[in-house]
Amino acid sequence: MIKKILLYTLLALVTIVVVGLLMPQNLQMPVVGADDNSYNHETFWYEGWGTSIVHKGIDVFAKRGTSVHSATIGIVLLTAEYGKGGKFVIVLGPKWRLHYYAHLDEIRTKPFALVDHNTEIGTVGNTGNAATTPSHLHYGIGTLIPYPWRIDDAPLGHQKAFYLNPIDYL
Ligand SMILES: [Zn+2]
Repeated sequence: MIKKILLYTLLALVTIVVVGLLMPQNLQMPVVGADDNSYNHETFWYEGWGTSIVHKGIDVFAKRGTSVHSATIGIVLLTAEYGKGGKFVIVLGPKWRLHYYAHLDEIRTKPFALVDHNTEIGTVGNTGNAATTPSHLHYGIGTLIPYPWRIDDAPLGHQKAFYLNPIDYL
């Protein structure tokens, strides 16, 4: 009996993981009105990024107050104002990836909210350690399922198993 329950639980978990992996990501530029010229294409994993050491995302520049929409469908896991990110939102999206939206001027969503491409989750700002830079969205993608083949010799290169380059999907 116990064996059967364990087996079914395991099957259910595997199914959930596989369904998540198969969900298409369909990444959309999260800053409304932004395009290819709104961010520097070389800044992912750029070195010398203060206490972060390398830049684990991209900075999309836009006027303060510009709408930030979710880049994918997903569920909001966390909204907070803390540390380097300032006001930030974390969304769990398809393929077990975490989408991190930081330096927001305002947060316009709540934990456990379901979001899609049309959901405004916040506005562009310069909170956190972006106080002295022009307003921008720091956008990063993390994966809960590691991609060890992406590890290289770069500083913190081992963390490339967990941080993906948003530009690859935009
Ligand atoms: Zn940044």
